[in-house]
Amino acid sequence: MTLELSLDDKVALVTGAGSGMGRAVARELAAAGARVAVCDLDGEAAAGVATEIRSAGAAAMSVVMDVASRASVHAGFDEVASAWEEPGILVTCAGIIGTTRLGALTDEEWDRVLAVNLTGTFLCVQRAVEGIGSGEGRIVTIASDTGKRGGGRIATSHYAASKGGVLAFTRSVARELAGGSIRINSICPGPTDTPMHDGLGPELRKQVTNGIPMGRFARPQELAQAVVFLVSDAASYVYGETLSVDGGVLMD
Ligand code: NAP
Repeated sequence: MTLELSLDDKVALVTGAGSGMGRAVARELAAAGARVAVCDLDGEAAAGVATEIRSAGAAAMSVVMDVASRASVHAGFDEVASAWEEPGILVTCAGIIGTTRLGALTDEEWDRVLAVNLTGTFLCVQRAVEGIGSGEGRIVTIASDTGKRGGGRIATSHYAASKGGVLAFTRSVARELAGGSIRINSICPGPTDTPMHDGLGPELRKQVTNGIPMGRFARPQELAQAVVFLVSDAASYVYGETLSVDGGVLMD
């Protein structure tokens, strides 16, 4: 028996795909045969990733999208639908970290982190489900191990709250969509080597690494391969699930 990972010509929309995990996800989906809409707030970064994918012989387009804005999300999906077709695959990688501790946390920072990480996920999933209609759909939301255990050394309460919200939202949507043709799941990455951690000093990085049973940060590609599995037919009976890809941090 062969593992069915091919995404032959399906249209995939990836948010936050100009950097880090989203970039790796876009590249791996394209390598599996999907046409990929590389969406990011940073249009230049998105265009760069789309060019990388096309240079490798696959199909990609770039889209400027602010996931925290309903108008921008809808315009981005509409752009992809008119160039190709409604995306049947959605991966929500767009996210921002929050590192301010409770005492110093402002309303503005709380609102921004929730707007991008949680409202952004809601807006994209809602628009994707509407576009897929009765067709076949696969959705993966990117949460975080902090969404389960709370924030720690790097990310703090507002970030963890936004990611816990992503997990609860994803499970609730899975229940609402039960019996339909769309599969939705979440991934909880652990510490992963992306630009999100550019500001991490060597001492903090060492402390975080010491808490990872596998003894190292993940490579973005390792997350991306888990995404390819979840959106492929190889995961045809995986539904409403949360997959930890964290080197053993949680083991729950
Ligand atoms: P990253 O390299 O910073 O990538 C995040 C991307 O999202 C960036 O390109 C960023 O653009 C984009 N973005 C930010 N705000 C946006 C918005 N409003 N609309 C659209 N795009 C937006 O970070 P990453 O590590 O790959 O993170 C990917 C996802 O994994 C995030 O949801 C993050 O919370 C989650 N995660 C990461 C880790 C980790 O250790 N790295 C662990 C657990 C979970 P700009 O650069 O222009 O801001």
